[in-house]
Amino acid sequence: MARRAISENRVDDVDALVRERKREMLVPVVNATGVLLHTNLGRAPLGIEVEPSYSNLELSLATGRRGSRQRAVGDTLASACGAEAAMVVNNCAGAVLLTLAALGAGRGVAVSRGEMVEIGGGFRIPDVMRQSGARLVEVGTTNRSRFSDYAQALDDDEDLAMVLKVHRSNYQIIGFTEEVSVAALRQLDVPVVADIGSGLLDAACPWLAGPPPKWLADEPAARQTLRAGADLVLFSGDKLFGGPQAGIIAGRRDLVERCGKHPLARALRPGDLVLQAVQATALAYLDRRGDDIPFWRMVAADVAGLEARAKVICDELGSSDGGPIARPTETEAVPGGGTLPTVTFPSFGLEVSGDVTEQLRAGQPPIVARVDQGATIMDLRTVAPAEDRLLGAALRSLNEVAG
Ligand SMILES: *Cc1c(COP(=O)(O)O)cnc(C)c1O
Repeated sequence: MARRAISENRVDDVDALVRERKREMLVPVVNATGVLLHTNLGRAPLGIEVEPSYSNLELSLATGRRGSRQRAVGDTLASACGAEAAMVVNNCAGAVLLTLAALGAGRGVAVSRGEMVEIGGGFRIPDVMRQSGARLVEVGTTNRSRFSDYAQALDDDEDLAMVLKVHRSNYQIIGFTEEVSVAALRQLDVPVVADIGSGLLDAACPWLAGPPPKWLADEPAARQTLRAGADLVLFSGDKLFGGPQAGIIAGRRDLVERCGKHPLARALRPGDLVLQAVQATALAYLDRRGDDIPFWRMVAADVAGLEARAKVICDELGSSDGGPIARPTETEAVPGGGTLPTVTFPSFGLEVSGDVTEQLRAGQPPIVARVDQGATIMDLRTVAPAEDRLLGAALRSLNEVAG
């Protein structure tokens, strides 16, 4: 920065240049947006801390020989979702690409025209298909696909490798519609691969204290999709699974092994930080410790508790000449992450007059809030209780600057 300041003849600006550069660096932030899986904020919150150390990433401690980085975490994931085997790649886009390349390259893959999805950031099924070397075989129409359409595709195509079923994560088709379930597709004579995207492990949600929440009713779950007859399910690690960015391939052992042996598997493999975090998350599911998964803890928080926290923060802040510094307010949180486009959660937060989001983003740590009808809203559903004092401190300092 010093060299740049000199070369640009801005020696007096060097501090500002350093500040600008620092503000673009990766730092922890407080998510007060109420969007639980905020793509710009790293989707699911991650709560692991890792000491600097080696790990037995590719060493079998039992034999002392070289082991597989996928074996233990894959087995744990497989137990958690009722699969024979599982493996982890960089993200769900990678899981789709690898599966198509390993099982479908040079062959046909049937997909319903109603499931040619685009997930934000350039993931489009036809494009991924082309990159994998598989040939897209379109089935049915935008609003209706029937079993006979798939059966016809299988008859017409001389070399169909599989059927790919893709969850419409971020949109809905309503009205005159029809789609074919995994349970029906399994009657076809080719493997059925389901990209369920969101990463709900089990529709029964045994990791939660109560019954499965109603808002999950239409979300496909890994365990049930496999039980219905999918040969493989693919899902994200950082959506409803609540772990780090990762993609999970789970299902029939022979197919998972074919994916693992493909040359792309090496290019898409995660390192030990990610694998440790996926393993810790999968273990929390198996132990039914939903509260240890930050996403599920935040989803399960009751509104009365959020309201009480909002009141405490506002009371401690007190008022200034113009009235209270912040007011408790009812809000609506959303799942985010391109999942469940129609679902909202009743929530509670703080409201401050005017748009102070820029000042909040400039704080340490930065706080990301949203603006609604000219007021700044900080939703407490996505804020950990331990972060409440940070909100209070940020609002107090805003007020002092203004005063
Ligand atoms: C989100 C999603 C993806 C992409 O997942 P990433 O982990 O972001 O790569 C793919 N397919 C579906 C159906 C999704 O919902």
